[in-house]
Amino acid sequence: MDTNWMAHGLCAHEDPAVFFPNDGVGVIKAQRICRQCPKQEHCLEYALTNKIDHGVWGGESERARRRLIRKRNVVAAKAASKAARVAAKAGAPVADVDAVDATGTVEVG
Ligand code: SF4
Repeated sequence: MDTNWMAHGLCAHEDPAVFFPNDGVGVIKAQRICRQCPKQEHCLEYALTNKIDHGVWGGESERARRRLIRKRNVVAAKAASKAARVAAKAGAPVADVDAVDATGTVEVG
């Protein structure tokens, strides 16, 4: 995964400790910086993809990122379940399902 964006984040000019706060006030302080950051989207995606537990990334706290990961897992599970149902209806093995998009639309190849 590309990490070049990290050099262009606003945190590159801050004390790293700001982004690893010990309390809610510290989280809010970090989030204020992140909200102005041009790399916020990359940063959040990086943290979610790599399941980074600690710190404020992409303007989201550790707890908020855990919630986002749980939501993604639910969406992925529903999409997989739908893919299995569609494949079963079509008489195709699940391995023949080409793709499931973010809306849950299934393509069978
Ligand atoms: S969103 Fe926040 S933590 Fe991420 S690169 Fe920007 S300033 Fe740094």
